[in-house]
Amino acid sequence: MKSHPVKALLLTAPSRLELVDAPDPQPAEGEVLVRVRACGICGSDIHGWDGSTGRRRPPLIMGHEASGEIAAVGPKVTAWKAGDRVTFDSTIYCGECAPCRAGRVNLCENRRVLGVAPVEYSQDGAFAEFAAMPARILYRLPDGLSFPHAAMVEPVSIAIHAVQRVKVAPTDTAVVVGSGMIGLFVVQALRWAGAKRIIAIDLEAKRLDLARELGATDTIQSDQADVAAEVARLTGGNGADLAFEVVGISPTLQLALACLRKGGSAVLVGNLAPKTDFPLQAVVTREISLFGSCSSAGEYPLCLDLISRGVIRVEPMISALAPLAEGAEWFKRLSAPDGAKFMKVILQP
Ligand SMILES: [Zn+2]
Ligand SMILES: [Zn+2]
Repeated sequence: MKSHPVKALLLTAPSRLELVDAPDPQPAEGEVLVRVRACGICGSDIHGWDGSTGRRRPPLIMGHEASGEIAAVGPKVTAWKAGDRVTFDSTIYCGECAPCRAGRVNLCENRRVLGVAPVEYSQDGAFAEFAAMPARILYRLPDGLSFPHAAMVEPVSIAIHAVQRVKVAPTDTAVVVGSGMIGLFVVQALRWAGAKRIIAIDLEAKRLDLARELGATDTIQSDQADVAAEVARLTGGNGADLAFEVVGISPTLQLALACLRKGGSAVLVGNLAPKTDFPLQAVVTREISLFGSCSSAGEYPLCLDLISRGVIRVEPMISALAPLAEGAEWFKRLSAPDGAKFMKVILQP
């Protein structure tokens, strides 16, 4: 099938990535072999490669935000053929447990994430020329959608899933706390969902400029203003109907909750800190509803459509495209103190 060795970016030790000749993956029954054309470096890869999260134990090929074309299909795969342009869910779900049968595949009891190796399992991902995976996690790319743009579908799906955890009414004001890449996708998803007022909050003026360009009606730089008071002012003294927390530490969680009106809803997406200070009495006495939001659950076709029609813009978030051979260098750059100036770096094996 292939005569040349398969290149892969292998994590061989904490903070050590090597471009190696990997064993040639073969699609097993129900699997396809994908020729990877684009794979984004995720923040969780950066936090994982140095060993700090314990979820990228070497040896491992990372990478879970990818697209490519089918190189070969394994036995009993009938819906796909070589040459099909695809992306795939970052989660390999079993399709049989109770959450899967209820359509909540992100909560699968047997989930394995591509390119992740916590204590329970090790699943090679897509920082490689070829990757084998079950056909059931594949999605077809719309014509004309480029591989790098298609590789952005995973982070977009996180935002669409978060916005769909609640009902967005045309009269709603929503705050988005944290205007990094996912926050900027949440802003765009809220605009798509029809929110009337979208208030983006961040420490960095540059990100807020981008938030306005992408659909935020108002922005607040959080070190320059009393954010909750400003949100109250913008909402006739009531507070926001919805708050999206996209950072995941105590101060931003508290900020998101403080911006809400009585009876409002908070969708919690960020999860940097395992535990936070939680304003229990404010949540109870103001009857705030809390919605956790993890990954996505089948929103890929919708997201691919939104991206290909330009309803959700991904190109402002792509900081660089680079060959796989430069992957190790990019991991160093992204983990440096000023690494946050890059949003998404996409490797092209
Ligand atoms: Zn990711
Ligand atoms: Zn399952």
